[in-house]
Amino acid sequence: MNNHEIKIATKQIFYESWHKAGVTKVKRLLNPNSGKFLTYQEFVNLFKVKSSFTVYYGLLSAIKNKWKISPTGRQRQTRRQNWYDNEENLSNAALHKITVENKFQKPTNENRIISYGVEPSEIQKLYKWPFSFTENTKLIMFQFKINHNIIYTKAKLKRANITADDICYLCKSEQHTIQHVFLKCSHVTLFWNEFFDWWSQVTSENIRLSDSTILYGPTNPLKPHQPLRLALLLAKYFIYKCNLNEQSLLFSLFKIQLRENIMTERYIAIKNKTAQLFNEK
Ligand SMILES: [Zn+2]
Repeated sequence: MNNHEIKIATKQIFYESWHKAGVTKVKRLLNPNSGKFLTYQEFVNLFKVKSSFTVYYGLLSAIKNKWKISPTGRQRQTRRQNWYDNEENLSNAALHKITVENKFQKPTNENRIISYGVEPSEIQKLYKWPFSFTENTKLIMFQFKINHNIIYTKAKLKRANITADDICYLCKSEQHTIQHVFLKCSHVTLFWNEFFDWWSQVTSENIRLSDSTILYGPTNPLKPHQPLRLALLLAKYFIYKCNLNEQSLLFSLFKIQLRENIMTERYIAIKNKTAQLFNEK
């Protein structure tokens, strides 16, 4: 047995169960309607196999490398590299070869974003969304830090031996991670409930946003619309500030800050417009 086989021994088990579940050809990993590769969630739902999204997307990227698949499918014209019609069997040995020959993509925070159901091809859009409605560099940087998983949490500080514990200061029961701070903490879920109730009172819109939209922003350029995007980002910034100072998440306080911030946003927009006009003259 050589080193390669030892290293990927755990993956071999994955693929064996995949093969049994019907993942026998590259084609089966494609959505017949869109012709695109299945998302991780679709894959799991369809084949009912246990896996992790890193293994799944690692395999997809290896397949794409092997057959030099362009993500746009532009190569569909070239018969030899026609990936949609590729009938190559996904036997265990073939999968091994693919994954050994083509190293898995380096795990970055993109894997985490993908785990929230975001398509890898849409990640670029996520990185751009704050620019579509704010010129506030502080807010843009803040979202950037969330995307790259580099904002302050007690879990991080504990790893760096800066704090003694990594327990959330609000609920005092769970680990203080980015996901916990913005999505999972019982205090933050109450805050979001108040936020959405308030939003529907003010705008008569009933909205439900996915975890991925709350944390990383929307991938659809039109939905949600700009005012909600700004309010959403400001709400996250408020939560983050409260966490930095270990303060409670008071929705009434957020509303006051939101009003002030929106006025500042308008001010920045007016100021920039004036500067632009001034430069043109
Ligand atoms: Zn908590």
